[in-house]
Amino acid sequence: MLEVQDRTQAQVEEAKRRLAGELLILAHHYQRDEIVGVADFRGDSLELSRRAAATEARYIVFCGVHFMAETAAILARPGQRVLLPRPDAGCYLADQVEPIPLEVAWERLGDSIDVERELLPITYVNSTAEVKAFVGRKGGAVCTSANAEKVLRWAFSQRPRVFFLPDQYLGRNVARRLGLPEEEIALWDPRFPPEDLKPFRRARLILWRGACRTHARFLPEDVLRVRAEHPGVKVIVHPECRPEVVELADEVGSTSFIIRKVTESPPGSVWAVGTEGRLVARLGKENPDKVVFNLAEPPPFCPTMSLTRLEDLAQVLSGLLNGEERGRVEVPEEVAAPARAAIQRMLEVS
Ligand code: SF4
Repeated sequence: MLEVQDRTQAQVEEAKRRLAGELLILAHHYQRDEIVGVADFRGDSLELSRRAAATEARYIVFCGVHFMAETAAILARPGQRVLLPRPDAGCYLADQVEPIPLEVAWERLGDSIDVERELLPITYVNSTAEVKAFVGRKGGAVCTSANAEKVLRWAFSQRPRVFFLPDQYLGRNVARRLGLPEEEIALWDPRFPPEDLKPFRRARLILWRGACRTHARFLPEDVLRVRAEHPGVKVIVHPECRPEVVELADEVGSTSFIIRKVTESPPGSVWAVGTEGRLVARLGKENPDKVVFNLAEPPPFCPTMSLTRLEDLAQVLSGLLNGEERGRVEVPEEVAAPARAAIQRMLEVS
C-alpha cells in the first residue's frame, strides 16, 4: 500500500517538475496529509483565493471543494485554467442555498419590505457561483469567516436590513458580536417558507437556514466535558459552530486565526479545538510542545474534503501532460461577472 502511495507521490513530483512555472497546486487545510504534503501552498479559503488570484500559472489545481475552485475560476485571468481533482467534492453548506429558492425568498420578502431599497444580501464564500452572482446583482458582497464582521458592518451602513446566506450560525455569531438584539434577527427556512411575515418586517438581519454539518457536530456538552477533564484548557472554535458553543468558548475565529493562536501560544498550552478533524490533528503534530486535541469525541471530518486522494491529483496532472484538462471548473461570464463584483466589494471593505 505504502509502495503504491510512494509511486503515486513520485508521479506527482515528476509531473510538477515537468509543469514547473505553469502549475500551482493549492490545498485547503482540511485536505488529507498526502495532498497537503505535495501542494505548493496550503491555506483557508480566503488565503487560497488570494493565492489563486495572484498567480500567473496557467493551471491552478485546487485541492478543496467545488465552490472554492469556482471562486478561483471567477478570479482567474484570461487563459488560466482551474481544475478540481474530484468534481464530486461539493460543500454541504454551500449546497443549502440554490438560486430558485433564493429568488422565491427574495420575492416573498418583497411582500413585506421594500427589498431593493431596504435589504442587502451578503453571502458567505461557501456558496455557489450562482448565489454569489445573485448577491452581486443586488449590490451585496461576499464574506469569509475572517472578515464577516467587517462586511456586515459595511452592509448595515448601506441598507437598514441584511439577508445573510447560507450559514445561520456564522450570521448569528457575528450579529451577537455586533450587539444586534435577538428580536431583530429572523430565520428564513427555505423548506418551509413562512406564512406570517411579521417577524421579517421587524428584522434587521434575516438568516438563511443553513449550517455546516461538520461544525454543527460541536455541542455545549463538549465544552463542559473538556473543561472538566482538562483543567486550564483553552477552547477555540470556528464561527461556523453553533452560537451556544461559541458563547462558551475562550476564542472564536477563522481557520487561519485558530492556527495562528495555537502556534503562537506558549509551550505547555492545552487547546481543545472546535473545527475539522484533519486540521486539528495536523496542528497537534506541528505543535509537539503543546497539547492540542479536537473538541468533539470522535472528531468530525468533512466528508467531501476527504474525497481527494493522491491518485486523483496524479490523474489530473498526467492529463495536463497529455494535453487534457480533467476536472476543469468553468463559470460562464454572465454568472462570473456579477459574482466577481460581489467578491470585489468584499476585498474593498475588508
Ligand atoms: S467543513 Fe463544512 S463548510 Fe467546510 S467544506 Fe466541509 S461541509 Fe463545507
